[in-house]
Amino acid sequence: MKTEKMMWEGFGFPIILDGVSWVTALFVFLCCFLFPYAYANVEKDLQDFYKLTEQYPANIPWAVTLKKKVLDQKNKNVDVSKGSMISDDQKPLHVVFGCLMHGDEVGCLNPLVKIIQQIANPAGDVPSPLERFSFTFFLGNPEAAKAHQRFVQEDLNRVFDPKRLADSVCGKVVTSESKRAEQIRHLLTDPDTDLFIDLHQTIEPSAQPFYIFRWDPQSVLWARALQGAKVLVTRNAEESFSPGNLSAAELFQDLGKPALTLEMGQKGESKEAADIVKKIFSRLTHLSTVDTNVWKTRDLKSLQTFKRVYSQSFEDPSFQLKPGFQNFSSVRKGQIVGSSSKGSLHSPYDGVLLFPKYPPRDSKGQAQGPLPSQLFQILQEGMP
Ligand SMILES: [Zn+2]
Repeated sequence: MKTEKMMWEGFGFPIILDGVSWVTALFVFLCCFLFPYAYANVEKDLQDFYKLTEQYPANIPWAVTLKKKVLDQKNKNVDVSKGSMISDDQKPLHVVFGCLMHGDEVGCLNPLVKIIQQIANPAGDVPSPLERFSFTFFLGNPEAAKAHQRFVQEDLNRVFDPKRLADSVCGKVVTSESKRAEQIRHLLTDPDTDLFIDLHQTIEPSAQPFYIFRWDPQSVLWARALQGAKVLVTRNAEESFSPGNLSAAELFQDLGKPALTLEMGQKGESKEAADIVKKIFSRLTHLSTVDTNVWKTRDLKSLQTFKRVYSQSFEDPSFQLKPGFQNFSSVRKGQIVGSSSKGSLHSPYDGVLLFPKYPPRDSKGQAQGPLPSQLFQILQEGMP
């Protein structure tokens, strides 16, 4: 085996490891020191969320719905015999927040628990957002979250294709994720829902948070209004994020409704993610109007837009990226970015790299476990 001699003289003694040992050492470091920190409060937050689902149940498990009439009845602040203050022609905007669609992307969990608790227990004379909104907050894959894993049997956010869901209902394909996807489909296809915000995090660090969804004018307007990120990675309506699969946001957009997928930095509990969740919720509830037809686009922050120009499929376990790539790392056309058993992998374009994958590897450098469909993507600035 080729050995890369590396020495840390700054520590006063040399540490010499070969390439594979470095990967192992890094893995151990991440597991022993960073991993517990990134998931320290998940169990408590899941328990708190579960309690809220018992107090304010939605029409599917692991989801909370907050509506004015329900809350008035709970708090007994209002004589419910007089009905809701909201008439039918002023139907509140029903916003659905998704969190933990991938079980290890826990950054949304604690801030959403706090937001739900705040709405349910309003302080003093602060106007309740439930005068103009109703909310459903759901956890996509809490079972995977308990195990600090992306999924249990398959990627939940790739199984929303109607045919696939039909196969699940009739028992042809049954995984814990396909059952959960059917419940979430039930929630999202309710005619009462108006806007879907799906909160995610990336596997590797990211130079910045970013929206990622199919181009659609209404979704873009909402993304600009909420300012969860300054960047949008987008694609044509015909182009799937993952060919042959459908995400929850794509399912919602197929209904002609706006859906935003927001990537809030690297996975795990983080101040960055908490700040973003708080910001978009505050922006949402302080909008002067939710009628996007009267919004003046000049008043909205513009988005820097990127389109995907290349994706490198993860053809076999020998495919490997060079270490050190993050989301939005710059690459040049022709640059060697990795290798496989067939030789070097070159970037075919100038651009930035997205969704780099570094799965664990065995002693021969072969990727272990189920392979991701892609090793990386290349983006360029511009419209799809
Ligand atoms: Zn995700």
